[in-house]
Parts: sequence; structure tokens; C-alpha cells
Amino acid sequence: MSKDYEVIIIGAGPAGIFAALSLVEKGLNVLILEKGAPLEERSCPRKEGYCSNCSCCGVLNGWGGAGAFSDGKLTFSPEFGGNLKQFIDDEKELQELFQQVDKIFLEHGAPAEIYGADDAAVRELRRRASAVDIEFIPAPIRHLGTENCYRVLQDISTTLQNKCIIRFRSMVQQILVENEMVTGVKLESGEIFSAPCVICGPGRQGTPWFLQESQRLGLTIQNNPVDIGVRVEIPAWVMEDITSKVYESKFHYYAPFFDDKVRTFCMNPYGQVVLENSEGVITVNGHSYRDKLRHSENTNFALLVSKNFTEPFREPIRYGRYIASLANMLGGGVLVQRLGDLLAGKRTTGERLAKGIVKPTLQEATPGDLSLVLPYRYLRSILEMLEALDRLAPGVYSRNTLLYGVEVKFYSHRLELSTSLETEVENLFAVGDGAGITRGLVQASASGLLAAGEIIRRLR
Ligand SMILES: Cc1cc2nc3c(=O)[nH]c(=O)nc-3n(C[C@H](O)[C@H](O)[C@H](O)COP(=O)(O)OP(=O)(O)OC[C@H]3O[C@@H](n4cnc5c(N)ncnc54)[C@H](O)[C@@H]3O)c2cc1C
Repeated sequence: MSKDYEVIIIGAGPAGIFAALSLVEKGLNVLILEKGAPLEERSCPRKEGYCSNCSCCGVLNGWGGAGAFSDGKLTFSPEFGGNLKQFIDDEKELQELFQQVDKIFLEHGAPAEIYGADDAAVRELRRRASAVDIEFIPAPIRHLGTENCYRVLQDISTTLQNKCIIRFRSMVQQILVENEMVTGVKLESGEIFSAPCVICGPGRQGTPWFLQESQRLGLTIQNNPVDIGVRVEIPAWVMEDITSKVYESKFHYYAPFFDDKVRTFCMNPYGQVVLENSEGVITVNGHSYRDKLRHSENTNFALLVSKNFTEPFREPIRYGRYIASLANMLGGGVLVQRLGDLLAGKRTTGERLAKGIVKPTLQEATPGDLSLVLPYRYLRSILEMLEALDRLAPGVYSRNTLLYGVEVKFYSHRLELSTSLETEVENLFAVGDGAGITRGLVQASASGLLAAGEIIRRLR
């Protein structure tokens, strides 16, 4: 059978896009299939703050993938945003891959400034954190900012448009395999495209579809943990001496009572709390602009409790979605509660919220009671972490602190993959968040480069 393309890429998120950039540079004939829209056509028809539950969410799907409207914090550490270090033993090799990712972002307009590279400030913060039993994990960050993230993706799109075929609103329904070797894909529309190599990067949004396909193809599937927690919003000055030096503060803490790990995640100085639609379940997230005119007066960050479940439990994603859906059931979306109200056993009302010092940046959140949503184990660990953080940054444990729920971070189901991210089907590669091996822009992009590198070796 003649082949239409040399490589087909499923999904135009960072994993797929970076793979494409690398492949076209070597002159390979590439087709990108994306179920969402081009960047400039991506939109959210939300009415009066309520999610319209579109069948293909314009915020999470389309050119640039899930993080296209994020503030693009690029974290260059093997400790964050994925598990690529499990595939690349040599840390130097992994760092080189990250540098390649960084170089591409810079070439397409990322700002030059790196936060968290001031050794003296990092050492001092480590000392202060360890004095209160918190581990501070340094991670240099390049902050694109929400407005620049869009521009960088636009620039990459312009580069790729002339060098490969990109089809939008093209949902892949089936991965075609013959004699345990990939041969192409079939779209929802019935169209078939053939290629000797396929890279599958469907992201978290594509997880249900990819899980189904993986099961149909008989691929080995493993469970991944699920992280559940809240988004915290405080006045920006409370953590200013920390965020001005390291921007994204990655703190890990073992909450004393349950001994579960609680971590800070996605810190947004002067940022906004936002809604996220995780396949119909409304959860919370955050972002921030580089442009000072668009700064808020608050800093927000997630506090997530990581829990590894043991046999016979096999459905961490369903469990996380179930907890988040309780907040949706009670509040029609995301709930917000003042810490003081939670500690006093009272729900937050609109009136109590209005009395608080911290003005919520997410207007659509419903004042409510998170103790009706989060299991005791999660809630207690979060409160213990807030108390510990207060010793590092006085004011975090204020009764005015706002807690939004629920924030959930899923890793997708994880496939058995080779060191070049090839699945058990020959020439079928799985990359990015949808493969269950990453959950951040840098590692997702790096995974795309890794798979592309192997394909180039095979086809050229
Ligand atoms: C609000 C938000 C803020 C974030 N902020 C940051 C941040 O600051 N820093 C950071 O490092 N990470 C951040 N992330 C995470 C980051 O965006 C993801 O880790 C990253 O986008 C994963 O890349 P990916 O290519 O694997 O998947 P995705 O970006 O999810 O892209 C997958 C693409 O595949 C398409 N697709 C799925 N199934 C199919 C199919 N069957 N056929 C065709 N197309 C399909 C989807 O439409 C989607 O466009 C954020 C995420 C969100 C949601």
C-alpha cells in the first residue's frame, strides 16, 4: 500500500507540535490531525460564567493544546511536569533535551528572563523552608505570560503551516494496525490516512479516547496517581519576598497526621483564578499575565495532596472526577470558601465573602463549604500545609485566605513505553500528557522531540 505521509501526528498540543518542528526540519512529510480549531478560532461560549459543556472544549482543545491560554510557565527541572527521567537515565541527556525545548521557545518569541536562577536567594529560601519542615525544590522558570503564550504558538503555527499539512476539526477515531505494526489512522469522518509512523499526543482531553484505543489494541496499561486539592488565593504581598525571587515556589511537605505529601503547584503572583472544564467536570486553575497592567492584587497557587492507591483500586481518574463533581453538584461549578469560615465550621456566604480582605479574582465561584466536598484526609493535610506555609510566609493562614475547590491533577493512564516512547505496537509512539508520562509544557514538548528523534533515525 502506498503511504500518504511519512509521519502522522495526533494532537496539536506542545508534544505534537514540537515533534512536528523536529520532523519537518529533516524534510519529513508530516500530517498533523487536531480535533479542535486553529488558535485564532478557539473560543469559549460561556454564558454568565457558566460552562456550556461543548463537546470539544475550545479552551483545552485546538492549536497549542490544553495550555494555549495558560500563562506558560516553563519549568526546566526533571522533578516537575512529568516522569521523563524514567525514560532517560542520563540527567545530562535530559537537560540537553530541555535546552532544545527552551531554544525553540526562545526562537519563537519567549521572553529571555529566567526566574529562580539566583543561587543565593534559592539557598536562603531552602534554609527558611527547611526550618519549618518544608522542602523547597528549586526549579528555574521562564514565564511566557498568558499574552506571550498565544503569540509564541501563533509564531510556531506560521512556521509549520508551510512545511506540513495541518488538519483541524479532524478527530482521529482509530489507530490502524496490521501485524503489530502501525499503518495509519481513521478519522471520525471515515477518512483514512496511511503512514509508516504515528505519534499519538492527545493530551488529558484525549485520555478517554486513547484509553479505549489502547485497550482495543491490547496495550499494557498502568495506573497513575491522582492529585486532589484546592487553589489558594492570598494578597500578593504575603508571599512577595518569595515570588519576587523565585516566581514559582515549589514547596513539598509531609502533613504530620496522615503523612501524605502536600505540594504547592502552579503559583501565579498577581494572577487570576480561572475555571477549567475537565471533560464536563468544572475544576479550578490559575494563571497570570506578564503585563503589569493586567496584574491582580492577589497571588494564587494550588495545594495538592498526592495519594498513591493500592490494589484492588484501579480508577484514580474516576475517583478524582467524582470528588470534583461534588463541588459542581453543590455549587453549580467551583466553590470558594474563606479559611476562617472553614475552620469555624460555617459555609461562606456572599455576605461573608464581601467582608473579607481578599477579593476573589474568580467571580464565577459559588461561596460554599468545602468540607462537604473534600474527604477528611485531604482537607486535614491541606490545613496542616497552610499552617506550615504560614510560618514561612506569615499571612497564609489568615481567616481571609480564600480556598477554591476542587483542583485535580490527573496523570492519564500510563502505557508500557520504550526509552524512545514507542508503544508495544511497532512505530506507534505515545507522547505528552495523554501518554501518562508528562503534565507540563516543557516535558510534553521534550517527549515530542524524543519520539521524533527516533523516527528520524528510522526513516532517514
Ligand atoms: C489552564 C491550564 C494552565 C496550564 N499552565 C501550565 C503552565 O503554566 N506550565 C506548564 O508547564 N503546564 C501548564 N499546563 C499543562 C500543559 O498545558 C500540558 O501539560 C500540556 O499542554 C500537555 O501537552 P500535550 O501536547 O501532551 O497535550 P495537550 O496540550 O492536551 O494537547 C493535546 C491535543 O490533542 C488533541 N486531541 C485529543 N484527542 C484527539 C484525537 N482523537 N484526534 C485529534 N486530536 C486530538 C486535543 O484537542 C489537544 O489539542 C496548563 C494546563 C492548563 C489546562
